[in-house]
Amino acid sequence: MAEIKCIGILTSGGDAPGMNAAIRAVTRAAIYNGLSVVGIKRGYYGLVYNDMEPFTSKSVSNIIQQGGTILKTARCKEFATVDGRRQAYDNMRAAGIDALVVIGGDGSLTGARIFAEEYDIPIVGLPGTIDNDLGGTDQTIGYDTALNTIIEAVDKIRDTATSHERLFFVEVMGHMAGDLALNSAIASGAEAAIIPEMETEIDQLGDLVKRGFRKSKNSAIVLVAENPTTGGALGLAQRVKEEFPEYDARVTILGHLQRGGSPTAADRILASRMGVEAITALREGQRNVMIGIKNGELVYVPFVKATTHVRTVDHQGVDIVKILSI
Ligand code: ATP
Repeated sequence: MAEIKCIGILTSGGDAPGMNAAIRAVTRAAIYNGLSVVGIKRGYYGLVYNDMEPFTSKSVSNIIQQGGTILKTARCKEFATVDGRRQAYDNMRAAGIDALVVIGGDGSLTGARIFAEEYDIPIVGLPGTIDNDLGGTDQTIGYDTALNTIIEAVDKIRDTATSHERLFFVEVMGHMAGDLALNSAIASGAEAAIIPEMETEIDQLGDLVKRGFRKSKNSAIVLVAENPTTGGALGLAQRVKEEFPEYDARVTILGHLQRGGSPTAADRILASRMGVEAITALREGQRNVMIGIKNGELVYVPFVKATTHVRTVDHQGVDIVKILSI
């Protein structure tokens, strides 16, 4: 296997708080180990259209606390084509890059797997997404910050919900994964969580609404994971209005504010640990794996496992919401 001398780093797909901490950790760990680093702009766009620059230790100064990504991110259609990836490979080689660290979600890591297989390039991925929807890892970088952002917002919504004695459906992100909705429901004391892993029929919804709005309570908050097939919070509120017109139901869609903000300590530490491990992995000859965390230990997860796992219902979490919302 050829010796790795230069690492390219990119962030791709949806941005997540902690991506900068990961960029910093990868860059500094590489330089510490005598490797050079190239920062690739706007995800795979930078590879396809040759937008990259050499990184020094100073390039990543003062960014650990910043949300977003200094490398920018994008969704690059061209990289999903054979011609686009050939262009990317040519540019990468011309820049002297021997290996890549890709920080992103399941789409980005799927692209990394295909690229690595096609051109036999060592690539290590870091799970950078607020959705917590990757296999083989208990947490993704950005998830903890997004959870904290959500509960801060829900605490505020609770004040107005209580004052007006209203039912609120609060929609959160998740990209067909219910972790953000379920765990923010637990952390904010919400009455229920509607997650894509479980089908919610209208009678269950009625049950949830009645349970949340019993006489001892004067407001109810239901956390809803985004879900294009059911219409998310707007779809649910519409169903409630039709079936239970006695309730004053309102909808708040938190949207992109969930992506922003300074990363929490947990996300900064996770990103720093994973970033350093990415360089260790490459130096040890690992390739085509994502760095994950399982029971507090860093693990190597093959890209295919990280991106194709089947989601299951967190029954314990569902029970906790139910038990604690009596
Ligand atoms: P998030 O889940 O946070 O939105 P993501 O990484 O899943 O992040 P995507 O938009 O799915 O975001 O993917 C990001 C980029 O990865 C795409 O724009 C494309 O460049 C690349 N990519 C995704 N799927 C493929 C694929 N099958 N082949 C090649 N490249 C891909």
